[in-house]
Formats: sequence, structure tokens, C-alpha cells
Amino acid sequence: MSRILLAGGRVIDPASGRDEAADLLLQDDRIAALGPAGSLGPADQTLDCRRHLVVPGLIDLHVHLRESPHPTDVPTPETIATGAAAAVAGGFTAVCAMPNTRPPIDTPQAVRYYIERGRETGLARVLPIGCQTAGRAGRQPADLEALRAAGAVAFSDDGSDVADPEVFERVLREAGRLGMPAFCHCEDAELAAGGVINDGPLAMVLGLPGNPPEAEEAAVHRACDAAARTGCRVHICHVSTGGAVEIIRRAKDAGAPVTAEATPHHLALLEESLAGRDTVFKVSPPLRSGHDVDAVLEGVRDGTIDCLATDHAPHSAEAKRLPLAEAPAGMIGLESALPVYAKTLIETGLLTWPQLVARLTVNPARVLGMDMGRISVGATADITVIDPEVAWRIEPEQFASRARNCPFAGWDVRGRAVATIVGGRVVFELDA
Ligand SMILES: [Zn+2]
Repeated sequence: MSRILLAGGRVIDPASGRDEAADLLLQDDRIAALGPAGSLGPADQTLDCRRHLVVPGLIDLHVHLRESPHPTDVPTPETIATGAAAAVAGGFTAVCAMPNTRPPIDTPQAVRYYIERGRETGLARVLPIGCQTAGRAGRQPADLEALRAAGAVAFSDDGSDVADPEVFERVLREAGRLGMPAFCHCEDAELAAGGVINDGPLAMVLGLPGNPPEAEEAAVHRACDAAARTGCRVHICHVSTGGAVEIIRRAKDAGAPVTAEATPHHLALLEESLAGRDTVFKVSPPLRSGHDVDAVLEGVRDGTIDCLATDHAPHSAEAKRLPLAEAPAGMIGLESALPVYAKTLIETGLLTWPQLVARLTVNPARVLGMDMGRISVGATADITVIDPEVAWRIEPEQFASRARNCPFAGWDVRGRAVATIVGGRVVFELDA
């Protein structure tokens, strides 16, 4: 029996509305007691949390861990083990792994491989997402029932959309029948037309094809309509345009079963970051205009966008050295997300800490339909301890992630996870 006391922290549990100084006692893998500060103990291990926030373990609905169940000669830019280490260093106790590995996670065996490797690693919980279509090829639905039985928590063809409307409809009907959410990377490939960065004046100046907001918005429109029609819960990934926010807002108002997420980079960075052609800023969907960023921030503030998710997308330095038009899209986010959320949402006064924590805990848990993301006696002891004031500099060389393609390198920020507890085990502690 192991007992850990989190002493005197500001305990925030958005699910119950709790926000008060309290002691939290963990015993084995459960939350054993919650009481007034100074009332609980002794324990085998005590963490002094008096200047810290004690919150449910953060959940990231969207990460790419890159590891494939099939052995490969080429080292992948991340593995389940290094990604899970990056997750806990960033304060995340659970991450949903996207299936667009090579080959993709479209079989029960591949789903089980992710679950087993995640368990062996013993850091963040690794929750695999299965493909929507076989081979992620968009031609026929994957065996969604078998993927669910193996332990997949959602279905997604992330990286691209299911273009064929008939196949998309069948995927959503089947996911809906199984009670599972469909995570949609909304991008109309024809409208996107191979665009490299946001369509606009900068694309013209750089002589690059642009990816217009309309490509995302048309697909968000289609996904929201399909959610309303099929009853399948549709989760819109990485919302990046004002038009998309407005479509989601209206769909929710009309009662469609739609949820949405925004990424740290779409809250904090503008398309102008690409003026120097630095490939670290190339991402899909692309960085947008200030007008779009403001609308996404407002969507997060008013709850249209329920969740925050990193879209942690590791790439090798070699791949990112290619010219902007050829380099892969994507940036890592697990170890820089929390202070970037704080900078864009707390320091600007858009959200309070309890509101931010809701978008990182109970809201993503609801998207998954899983009993997680709350602090209550008897619940699983997944807890994140945050120092909201600590000032630090983001230095990717220090990251646990195998990848270094972080767009926030050198940023001076505030706020950091100081301890991450999964199933009652301290799996990360920041050196004081
Ligand atoms: Zn995507």
C-alpha cells in the first residue's frame, strides 16, 4: 500500500465546481480522501502543493506517436515510449494516439500493440484511435467494431479527410451505431489544392500555393451536417478559422452532437511566422490570419471549442530541412502546451484556471465518453500538479520527446507541470 499526500494545493475540479485549498490523499491507484488543508496525513510521500494547482490529470485528445507495430529500418521521429515521456513532462496523464502511422493503425492487432506498449512504458495512458477507413485509404470503412473491441477509443483518418461522401456517411453511421466518436480532420482536398501555407498575401509573396480557409470550412460544414443526420458524435480536430468556429457554433445551437478542439499553435501563432520560410511553422491546417486567431480564441472562450489538444506531430530534423513546399507539416506540442495555453488564455483574461482546466480534463473525457478527468474520492488517481507562476524558457533540447520541431523555442513563459501522477504513481517530477 502506498500513500501520497498532496498537501495544501489549490484543488480545482471543474466537473464538480470545486476550487479551494485542500489536501488530497492518494492510496494505491485511487483518490482516498479529500479534506481541508492540513487535515490529512501522514503518508509515505508528501508533496508540498501550497503554491500549486492540483488538477485532474490533463488529457490530450490528439497526438502522433509515430511508432508502427511493424518493425522498420528507419528510426521514427517519436516512439510510444518517448511520446509518453514527453506527455507526462508536459502534465498529460492520458494521450490519444492518432492512427496515421506507416502502416496505419487499422487492425485490432495494431490497436492492441499500442495499448500494450503504452502499458509497458508505464507513463501517460496511451489511448489508441483506430482508422476510419481500411488502410486510411478512404475507399471502405475499417472494421470499426473489431477496432472498438480491441480498445480503440475513437476513429479518425487524421492527416486527411474521408473525401468520398458515401464512405464518410457509412463510417459515421457505423461509429454512431457503436456509440463511438469520429475525430475529423476537416479539409476538402480539392479546395485545399495542395496549398502549403494559408492562402493570402504571404503565399503570393513567397510564391507558394495557398490553402484557403474555405477548404476547412466546407469540410467542417459537411461533418456537422453528417453529425446531425447520423447521430454520430463528431469531434472536429484542430479548428483554425473563424468561419469554422461559426459553423460549429450554429451546429451546436441546433443540437448536433458536435465537439471541437483548438491547438496551442493556432491560438498563439500567425501566418506571418512563415515569412522567413522556416519549416518549423509549417502545419496542417496552416497558421492563419490574426482575424482567424481571434475568432478561434473567442470560440475557446465561449465554449464553442470544448477542448484543447496539441496535435503533437514529431518530425525529424532531416525532414524539416527540406524546402517549405516539400517539408512535412506538423509541430510538437506536449512539453510546451501548458504555458502557451496560459499565455494566450489566462494572461489575456479570456479564461480562469478552472475554465482552462475544464478544456483539458473533463471536457475531453466527455468527448471520449470515458470516466476520467475528475477529482473525487474513489476516482482513479490521475493528477497533475501545476506551478502557475514559475517562469521558464522553452528549450527543445531539454525535451523528453525525440523530436525538436517546436515552434516556441526560446519563448519565455510562465506556468509548468511540476508533478504528474498516473494511477497513484508519480511518473514525472520537475527537478526543483
Ligand atoms: Zn489533422
